[in-house]
Amino acid sequence: MRLILLGAPGVGKGTQAKALAKELNLPHICSGNLLRQAVKENTELGKQAKSYMEKGELVPDALVDQLVFNRINQPDAEAGFVLDGYPRNVHQAVELDQKLSDSQREIDTVINLEASQAVIIQRLSGRRICSNCQANFHIKNMPPKKEGICDYCGAKLYQRPDDKEETIKNRLRVYRKEAESLIDFYKNRSKLLRMPADEEADIVLKKILDKLNGYFKISTRNSIDEGGRPDFKENS
Ligand code: AMP
Repeated sequence: MRLILLGAPGVGKGTQAKALAKELNLPHICSGNLLRQAVKENTELGKQAKSYMEKGELVPDALVDQLVFNRINQPDAEAGFVLDGYPRNVHQAVELDQKLSDSQREIDTVINLEASQAVIIQRLSGRRICSNCQANFHIKNMPPKKEGICDYCGAKLYQRPDDKEETIKNRLRVYRKEAESLIDFYKNRSKLLRMPADEEADIVLKKILDKLNGYFKISTRNSIDEGGRPDFKENS
């Protein structure tokens, strides 16, 4: 199964993508993480992407496309994946469709997570990331067992520089500018599944899995048996 998660920064996209990937036994492919890794490793691509990321601007399509396509062509993504943060605009969506169809693959479902502005700001300002394994925490909603330390690998947690208020506002502006046409792109292809995401993460996850189960015959953390192509027209 090939899933895309859409939603504004702070809507809980990363948390849901990671949990879904685990439940469905698929790789979680996150463009932001791939880019941060490239910056951390100071690769040629990372050097070019850095200044855009610091300002909350989108990194040029050609750079991100290359990173994501390399990743989805890895053997572990052959049976499917959960894409998070990509595509961010229609150009990327078209490129992705093209790239997948070159290998007789296509996106099954695009989940659009929707939350109020107040919830988004609360989530982003309290978010903390592991400096080593990139796991996400939240100082209130999902605190680590030991303050400032990752539960999984023991490394230090940090606040992303682009989670500062001014940059958050810019990221939300950038997101909105591109989101509408991207959502329409998938809606017109009857792939869009709209999901309210104001509630706690585990409740949202359960609702997503219930929906997917209604469209595909999925068995979580095991095999996935696709039964018939869903049509999300009614839902969108
Ligand atoms: P995220 O972790 O998804 O919030 O992404 C962090 C930053 O990485 C964004 O503000 C962009 O600068 C860049 N980025 C991530 N994904 C993309 C993408 N699909 N296209 C362009 N830039 C991206």
